[in-house]
Amino acid sequence: MTRREMDLLGWKELDILLVSGDAYVDHPSFGVALLGRWLSSHGFKVGVAAQPKWDRPDEVAAMGRPKLFAGTSAGALDSMLAHYTAFRKKRFDDAYTPGGLAGARPNRATIVYTGLVKAAFPGLPVVLGGIEASMRRASHFDFWSDAVRRSILLDSKADILVYGMGERAILEIARRLADGGPGAKPRDILSGIPGTAFMGSERDIPEGAPVVRVPSHESIVSDPRQLMAATLALEAQTRSNAWALQEHGGRTVVFAPPAAPLSTEELDRLYSLAFTRDPHPSYKEAIPAVEMIRFSITSHRGCAGGCSFCSLALHQGRRVSSRSAASIEAEARALTRHPDWTGAITDVGGPSANMWGASCSADPADCGRASCLTPGICPHFQDDQKALAALLRRLRSLPGIKHLRVASGVRHDLALRSPDYASALVGEFTGGQLKLAPEHSCARVLELMRKPSFAAFERFLSVFERESRSAGKEQFVVPYLVSAFPGCADADMRALSAWLKARGWKPKQVQCFIPLPGTVAGAMFHAGIDPSGKPIPVARTDAERLRQNGILLNPGRTQGRGP
Ligand code: SF4
Repeated sequence: MTRREMDLLGWKELDILLVSGDAYVDHPSFGVALLGRWLSSHGFKVGVAAQPKWDRPDEVAAMGRPKLFAGTSAGALDSMLAHYTAFRKKRFDDAYTPGGLAGARPNRATIVYTGLVKAAFPGLPVVLGGIEASMRRASHFDFWSDAVRRSILLDSKADILVYGMGERAILEIARRLADGGPGAKPRDILSGIPGTAFMGSERDIPEGAPVVRVPSHESIVSDPRQLMAATLALEAQTRSNAWALQEHGGRTVVFAPPAAPLSTEELDRLYSLAFTRDPHPSYKEAIPAVEMIRFSITSHRGCAGGCSFCSLALHQGRRVSSRSAASIEAEARALTRHPDWTGAITDVGGPSANMWGASCSADPADCGRASCLTPGICPHFQDDQKALAALLRRLRSLPGIKHLRVASGVRHDLALRSPDYASALVGEFTGGQLKLAPEHSCARVLELMRKPSFAAFERFLSVFERESRSAGKEQFVVPYLVSAFPGCADADMRALSAWLKARGWKPKQVQCFIPLPGTVAGAMFHAGIDPSGKPIPVARTDAERLRQNGILLNPGRTQGRGP
C-alpha cells in the first residue's frame, strides 16, 4: 500500500494497481486481497490503493504508474447499496471502513475511481471488477436514481470489465498486457477473454459460437418490459457458454462467455496463499467486518438457489465449486496459530452454508432452469451434507478449536434432505440463534422470489425444535423476512403477519425489498411484470413500501389498510 513497502520488497514499480472502496484487509473474504495474492502468486507486483481520496489523484498515484494496468472496484458491496437504506436515506455506518463510519468511498465508486486513475495515469488500461461492475455490466435499473442506466463500461470509459469471480480473467488480462509490450492497444489484445465485457462488435465473436442478443439500451429505456427480456437473456448467457451483445446508441457491448469456475485444486491453492488475515497496519481503528470474518473459512463458491433478488449468487454463478476437506482443515489449523486466535471458528460456508460438495450430474451448460432448487430440487442436483457434517465435526475436534459455528445462510429445503446434517447443524454448530430466510409465507411471492415453499420452512422448524430439545439447548430461529417484494400485496403481508402472530413471533427487523441492478427481481420492480410477462402488483412508492413494512413491524396500526 505504500512506497516504503515497495522499497522493502525491492520493487521499483508496480505491475498492477488495484483500487478498492474497502479498507485493505489481507483476508480471503476481501476480493482485492484475494486477487492481489493470486496475481502475486503468478509473478506480478501488485499494489493496493484502498479507499483513496477521490477529489485529487495523489493518493492513487502514491506508488507511481503501474506497468500494466489498474483495476478498480467499489468493494464488497455496490456503493449505492452500501450508502443508502431501502428508503434512500443515507447510512452512517460502513462495516468495511476503519472506525465503521460511512464516507470513505464515493457514490458510484467504480466510475469515480476509474476517472481518478485516468487523471493520474493518462493512457493506462483500466479494468473494472467487483460486484458493482459485475451487476451493472449491461443496461440496468438503478433504484437510487429511479432510472435505467447504461452499462457501467460506457459510463466509466474503462477498457474492459471483469464479471463474476475474477481470478481467471484478471490473470489473462495481466498476461496479455505483459506479453503485448509497449504500444500494444488494449482494444486489440484484450478481446474475447472469458468472464469479461468490452466495447466491440459482432466481429469479436468466433464464427459459429452461440450468441445471445440482449435488447438494446434504447429499447429498454422506451419499454420497461424489455428490461425483463434483457435480464433473462443475460441470466441464460451466464449459465451457458454463450456470448452476448447489447447495443447502446450505435456502440456494442460484447459479453464473452463466463469464465469456468476454479477447480477444487485451484481453489485449494488460492486459499493456501499467505493471507495474514489482518487489516493493514496503518489503520488505527477497528474495521467491523474484520471482527465478523477474521476466523471464518470459505468452503465453497457459487449458489445453486438462483433466488431472483440475489446479486451474490448471480455474481458467483449457479455452479458450486468446493475446496477439498484437506485444504479446509489446513486453514483451520493455521487459524489456531494466529496471534489473535480466540479458539472459535465463526463460520464455515459460502453464499449458502450447506452446498459444500454440491454438483450437477448433468451438463449445467445445457440447463434451462433458473434454479437448481425451485420449484423443486432438480433430480440432477447432488449434495453431500453427510460429508459436510463430518467435516465440521473433524474441524471442531482439532487441537486449539473450542467452538465452531455456522453463520452462513442455511438452505433449509436442502437441510431437510439430510438428517445427519440437520442434527449436526442444530445440535452442535448453532450458537443459540439460527438465522433462516423463509423471506415470506405466500406461495405466489415465494415463487416470484424462487424460494422454497413455506411448508418446507415449517417442516424445518419442527426439525429445529426436535433437535434443539434432544441436544438440551434452548435455541431460536431468527427469520429473515422481506416486505414489498414485487407481486406482494398488502393482503400477503397481512397473511404473513397472521402466521407470525399465531406463532408468537414479533419480528424486530424486516427488510424492505431493494431492487438490485442486474437481478430478475429488479426487472420485476421496474417493469411491473413477472418473468413470463404477466402484470404483477408492485409496491413502488415509499408510502406503499413503508406500509407493507409496517404491517409486520406494527401490525396493530396497519391492519386493514391498503388494497
Ligand atoms: S440440470 Fe439440475 S442440477 Fe444441473 S444445473 Fe440444471 S437445475 Fe442445476
